[in-house]
Amino acid sequence: MTTPVVDICVIGAGAAGLAAGIFAAELESALRVELLDGATSIGAKILVSGGGRCNVTHDVVTPDDFFGTRHLVRNVLAAFPVKDTVAWFASLGVALKREETGKLFPVTDKARTVLDALMARSRELGVVLRPGHRVASIEHRNGSEPAGTEDLPRFVIRHQHGETAARRVILATGGQSLPRSGSDGSGYGLARRLGHHVTPTVPALVALMLDERGFHADLSGLSQDVEIQTLVAGRAVDRRTGSLLWTHFGISGPVVMDASRFWCLAKARGETAEVYGNFLPGRNAEQVRDWFLAQASHNPRRSLLKLLADSLPERCAEALCRHAGGDPQQVCAQLPRTIRDRLLTALTRFRFPVVRDRGWNVAEVTAGGIPLEEVNFRTMESKLMPGFYLVGEVLDCDGRIGGFNFQWAWATGRVAGRAAAASLGAGSGR
Ligand SMILES: Cc1cc2nc3c(=O)[nH]c(=O)nc-3n(C[C@H](O)[C@H](O)[C@H](O)COP(=O)(O)OP(=O)(O)OC[C@H]3O[C@@H](n4cnc5c(N)ncnc54)[C@H](O)[C@@H]3O)c2cc1C
Repeated sequence: MTTPVVDICVIGAGAAGLAAGIFAAELESALRVELLDGATSIGAKILVSGGGRCNVTHDVVTPDDFFGTRHLVRNVLAAFPVKDTVAWFASLGVALKREETGKLFPVTDKARTVLDALMARSRELGVVLRPGHRVASIEHRNGSEPAGTEDLPRFVIRHQHGETAARRVILATGGQSLPRSGSDGSGYGLARRLGHHVTPTVPALVALMLDERGFHADLSGLSQDVEIQTLVAGRAVDRRTGSLLWTHFGISGPVVMDASRFWCLAKARGETAEVYGNFLPGRNAEQVRDWFLAQASHNPRRSLLKLLADSLPERCAEALCRHAGGDPQQVCAQLPRTIRDRLLTALTRFRFPVVRDRGWNVAEVTAGGIPLEEVNFRTMESKLMPGFYLVGEVLDCDGRIGGFNFQWAWATGRVAGRAAAASLGAGSGR
């Protein structure tokens, strides 16, 4: 049987792979573009994203929203600004709406709208989607190309149904989050065998589990604004404020998920990591002390709980009182100094007893991956293997919660798709 030959083979048909295929074919519809995906159905992760609504992008996207080599991230983002993403989705028939937080969702509130539009556009352009085609290896024809053979396939891709020869390969295999969707980290091995490095990978945008002796389960379902600070080996590496959600296993919510990568990376490196919470964000320990003393002397007969409940949710106030060894109903005037001091510390510098993260099955993204330094940011082409491109989450770049990870997928997919097509003469009138 002869090996089928394609111009561009995209490995992985998630957000970045679909974008790469579409943009390549838009530049030159005559190109044979094929997407191979190991999953039996395409787009599982898009369908579950954003709670089934798919947070496609964010109103304002800056390099500060990402963790990755800054100037490289900036250049990639600049190649496909948000307004272009919005216009692109409109051209696919997907109108987006902005929510108060700045997140953009399809007006239908259905992730299915996004996936259907990407698949329909792929088919319209003649891009071939092949689910159930898990790729086991990519081989590169060794040696420099003799004159006159530049157009011959350089790569042989081995998959479940045989092999495919391709002139260009775009690796869009994602990271390790949600492995049941097909993104199980196998792309790292494919890239490694072509000479790439992979920085240690850990779950990011993931909830954190607390020591079961903590009071978190009593607060399950409660959400409140908290300032979270992460210390690694005693040094503050991250500070952010936002909504924290207490759960039966520990803590979640946007602020915890955004901070989780620092805890996970430190643990993977064998370093100590501590997560502290200030339940009165915007006020430091001194200000809280002054406020507390003033309130207590003004209303000495008031209960501790009533006083605290002015500034934080009652259930949390009660749990913190007990945690500090106090009785929530005790009147302020009678509060022993040791308990008062412990309570003030708990309010502004509460050490969350984190035992582990919730793992790959629930993490939304992967921190770590193939170093951005190993790709040319103008094309997403590998600097180590000509004709090989890398896009999306497989790269060492992760965004915060809010649509930034999809924006990275669309932007890198577009850059690589167009560059791979252009390298085959598309768009130049050749
Ligand atoms: C529950 C959840 C909710 C999320 N919500 C949002 C959100 O609302 N907004 C946002 O911006 N981000 C969100 N994300 C993150 C976002 O989904 C990812 O960052 C994004 O999908 C990455 O795109 P990708 O194409 O690089 O990788 P993926 O979407 O992971 O796609 C990779 C594809 O490659 C295939 N593949 C892997 N290995 C092989 C192989 N060896 N051979 C063939 N195929 C292979 C996989 O089957 C998969 O289809 C969410 C993630 C999760 C898990």
